Amino acid sequence: KTAGGNTFELFHHEMEDAEAAAMRIELDLQSVVTSRELILHYQPQIDLRSGKIIGVEALLRWQRPDGTLLLPATFLPVAEETGLIVPITEWVLNEACRQQVAWTAEDITVRMAVNMSGVLFRRADIHNLVMDVIERTGINPVDLELELTESVLIGNTDTANQQLADLRKLGAAVAVDDFGTGYASLTYLSRLVIDRIKIDKSFIDRIENSPSDQAIVRSMIDLCRKLEIKVTTEGIERPEQARWLARQRCDEGQGYYFSRPQPADKIAEMFHTSMKAAHRDEMQMCHIS
Ligand code: C2E
Ligand code: MG
Ligand code: MG
Ligand code: MG
Repeated sequence: KTAGGNTFELFHHEMEDAEAAAMRIELDLQSVVTSRELILHYQPQIDLRSGKIIGVEALLRWQRPDGTLLLPATFLPVAEETGLIVPITEWVLNEACRQQVAWTAEDITVRMAVNMSGVLFRRADIHNLVMDVIERTGINPVDLELELTESVLIGNTDTANQQLADLRKLGAAVAVDDFGTGYASLTYLSRLVIDRIKIDKSFIDRIENSPSDQAIVRSMIDLCRKLEIKVTTEGIERPEQARWLARQRCDEGQGYYFSRPQPADKIAEMFHTSMKAAHRDEMQMCHIS
C-alpha cells in the first residue's frame, strides 16, 4: 500500500510538469474571455527616419488573479488546439480597435497591428469577423493592420490570396510576421498581395558584425522597395542596430531599444514624448546616413 502510494506520488509529479499543466491551462482558458483576465499590452512601432511612434502592435497577456502575467507562448498553443483561439481573437481585435479609436479621439494617431492566428486565417469567415469588429468599433480600417506568419501564407497561394484580398477589400492592411523564418523563397513576395513584411529578430541580432546577415537584410529591403512592400524590423535592442537599419532605409522598427510592450496609458505618454523629441538628439541617431 505504501509503495503504491509512492508510485502514485511519482506519477503525479510527472503529470504536474507537462500534461496536468496543459490541462489546467485548458480548463482556465475556457472562462478566460469572460473573466476579464485577458489584457493587451502595446509595443510602439517607430518611423526610423523621424523617431516618431507611428504604430503599435497589440500583444496579448493573461493576468491571473494571483497577479502573475502569462505570455502568449504559455497559453496560445492550447487555445489553438481547443478552438478557444476564435473567441480570444475576437476579443483581441475588438479591444485593440476600441483602444485605437479612443486614442484617435485624444489626437494620438497610431496604426494598430493585431496578430492573427493561422487557425483563424484558414477559416472562410475571417473576413466577416474583421468586418464586424470594424463596424462595431468604428475604427478607420486604414488604421488597422493584420499580422500573419509566413507559414500560414505559403501553403496554398491561391486560397491565401483570396483571403488576403477579402481582408484588404475591407481597407485593412496585411503584414507578414516573423519574415524569413518560414522557409519560403523570396519569390512568393511577388505572388502574395501584402502590404508589409516584418523582418524577424534573428536576422538583426548580429547585424553590426555579420556581413552575411547584412547582405540578407539589405536584399530583403531592396526587393521590398521594388515590390512596393513596406518593411518593419522586429527585435531592435541596441542603437547600433537602429542606426544601421535607418541607413538601409528600412521604414520602421520595433524592439526593446525603443520600448517594451506597455499598458495603454504608458503608450499615450510615450507618444507625446516621441512627438516632442522626434527632432532632438536622442532620436537623431535614426537620421544618420
Ligand atoms: P510577434 O507577433 O512576433 O511579437 C513580437 C514578440 O517579440 C513579442 O513577444 C514581443 O514582446 C517580443 N519582442 C519585441 N521586441 C523585442 C526585443 O527587442 N527583444 C526580444 N527578445 N523580444 C522582443 P510576446 O508578446 O511574448 O508574443 C509572442 C508571440 O505571440 C507574438 O510574436 C505573436 O506571434 C503571438 N501573439 C501575441 N499576441 C497575440 C494575439 O493577440 N493573437 C495571436 N494569435 N497571437 C499573438
Ligand atoms: Mg506580430
Ligand atoms: Mg514577429
Ligand atoms: Mg515572433
